[in-house]
Amino acid sequence: MIITRIPPSPTGMFHIGSLRTALYDYLLAKKEGGIFFLRIEDTDRNRLVEGAIENIVASLDWVDISSDEGVVFDEQGNLSEKGDHGPYTQSERLDIYEKYTKELLDKELAYYAFDTPEALEEMRNRQRLNKQAPRYERDTMTNSFTLGMEEAKKRIAAGEPYVVRMVIPKNEDISFTDLVRGEITVNSNEVDEQILRKSDGFPTYHLAVVVDDYLMKTTHVLRGEEWISSTPKHILLYRYFGWDKPIFAHLPVIVNKEGKKLSKRHGDVSVFSFRDTGYLPEALVNFVALLGWNPGTDQEIFTLEGLVEAFDMSKVQRKPAFFDRDKLAWFNQQYIRKMDISELTNRCLPFLIDSGLVSNDDAEGNDKRVFLEGVVALQRERITVLSELPEAVSFMFTLPQYEKDLLMWKKSTLEDAREKLIVLKGLLEGIQESDWNVEHINEKVFSFIKEKEFGTGDALWPLRIALSGQKNSPGPFDIMGVLGKEESFKRIDVAIEKLS
Ligand code: GLU
Repeated sequence: MIITRIPPSPTGMFHIGSLRTALYDYLLAKKEGGIFFLRIEDTDRNRLVEGAIENIVASLDWVDISSDEGVVFDEQGNLSEKGDHGPYTQSERLDIYEKYTKELLDKELAYYAFDTPEALEEMRNRQRLNKQAPRYERDTMTNSFTLGMEEAKKRIAAGEPYVVRMVIPKNEDISFTDLVRGEITVNSNEVDEQILRKSDGFPTYHLAVVVDDYLMKTTHVLRGEEWISSTPKHILLYRYFGWDKPIFAHLPVIVNKEGKKLSKRHGDVSVFSFRDTGYLPEALVNFVALLGWNPGTDQEIFTLEGLVEAFDMSKVQRKPAFFDRDKLAWFNQQYIRKMDISELTNRCLPFLIDSGLVSNDDAEGNDKRVFLEGVVALQRERITVLSELPEAVSFMFTLPQYEKDLLMWKKSTLEDAREKLIVLKGLLEGIQESDWNVEHINEKVFSFIKEKEFGTGDALWPLRIALSGQKNSPGPFDIMGVLGKEESFKRIDVAIEKLS
């Protein structure tokens, strides 16, 4: 069975890069009926950000790729855990890491080190001067190899701060097969004697990730390519413990227009910033899926189920994936256009409520619902993100404000605009309430204009302005269909009044 994991550190808001990894994890697992779980890697105590764990879980829930196991929200919306291999939060697993650290110490594959920050700094300066790569020099520094184990234990008993480092063999090729990059070999001389346990008693990422991936039965480790250089250390740890290693796949870096790695510095890339701007989760997932993977066909639009079906790790590319914001906007438009209107209205409501155009009570009421769906339908072709909607439809909620000159079509006159509005109003008055719909109004008005030989602009321009107060609004029939007869007449009367 395939078991994948997303193990974010709660050091900030869940971002696009993590979403891409989580999505591939999810797709890979779901394709084979496997398990996808969420583990929280909170061992770096100085970088914890309040609310970050909640944000991670909520982000995954929002895009509908919730984890099968690990950290989840319970029914009350509180953080909780499920699954047989917990706890899934690393800070709750310290005794487990202690046990495995001890095992490595006993096997002399790890050792205690007591170097002060000053001593380490001096070592680095020396290496820098000699143009050597920064590397812990086990043979000359202060550790249980140079001091002897007895002395080391005495120092620990006396309360001296210490770390535990891993032994790296000299001049040995360490190889693994990466699912994306193929065979990778690194000479151990390139690998530093990594700290496994810090002086605060917490493990480092390297120890914790290996122990947890093993104990949680992870079969595939997918992560960003920035972790490739850590993998040889992990391979050694698997070997030291006598464990089978999982399959590794390092996903291509995601870059912006300038070819720079996508990061907060180039604008907010947190998943929730896209939610708050009004991207639909379906569109975001569809777009993110294609950041480094392609189906091998021209197909671009995929539901989550469709992705599960089509996904294949062998089509994950090595070259950087371009985060093309225009493309994301295009995806969002596609989803806005084809979404069921009632569902789309639900998605738009938070934005309309937030802008003050709609109250919570309005959103509940049935009458208002028909109107709201009409309003959303009016502009769905014209918006890219849902946050554009309130401004685009505000004229539907309050009487539009405009200068009377705007009512005048091209070379026409204000007097003519007034006349046209008066006759059109007369015509519209003849339409029964039950026939008040876009098609019917359209047909009536057009045959009337034709019969009277009015210019289309001469007749419809003043009408459009009267209804919307805007040059670039949807067409007057569409607006009238949604506003209803009474409100439409009110607006036409205001315009006639302005012109009198
Ligand atoms: N905690 C690491 C991160 O924040 C996980 C890396 C991995 O997947 O091994 O990305």
